[in-house]
Amino acid sequence: MSENCLFCKIVAGDIPSAKVYEDEVCVAFNDISPQAPTHVLIIPRKHIDSLDKAEKTDKETLGHLLFTAAEIAREKGFAADGYRTVINTNSDGGQTVFHLHVHLLGGRLFVFPPG
Ligand code: AMP
Ligand code: ZN
Repeated sequence: MSENCLFCKIVAGDIPSAKVYEDEVCVAFNDISPQAPTHVLIIPRKHIDSLDKAEKTDKETLGHLLFTAAEIAREKGFAADGYRTVINTNSDGGQTVFHLHVHLLGGRLFVFPPG
């Protein structure tokens, strides 16, 4: 756990969240400011600042986050229609919370490239 990290506090249960899934590696919860009918954040229990800071030993965790996103999309029922997964990294990437997270957005049409 990293001190003063919002998402570590969510993992620890010190800050409330609307959890949709959790296991030994990750926690998934609804984004507080949803950008789509479904907007879930999937985060590792372990604190990793960003994708840029992920190490070789984190490879399995990175795969786990993406696989979990796909499972949640299927469970929510929009996998066949399609969805968007996003990892914002550092300032140009638009990252605001420095605990690695995958955004899972579904339930509407997305355009590409994003802004
Ligand atoms: P990013 O800009 O990629 O770092 O994404 C951070 C995301 O965290 C944003 O979509 C925020 O709406 C979301 N967020 C911030 N605080 C909370 C919170 N307490 N619970 C759930 N989501 C949050
Ligand atoms: Zn953290």
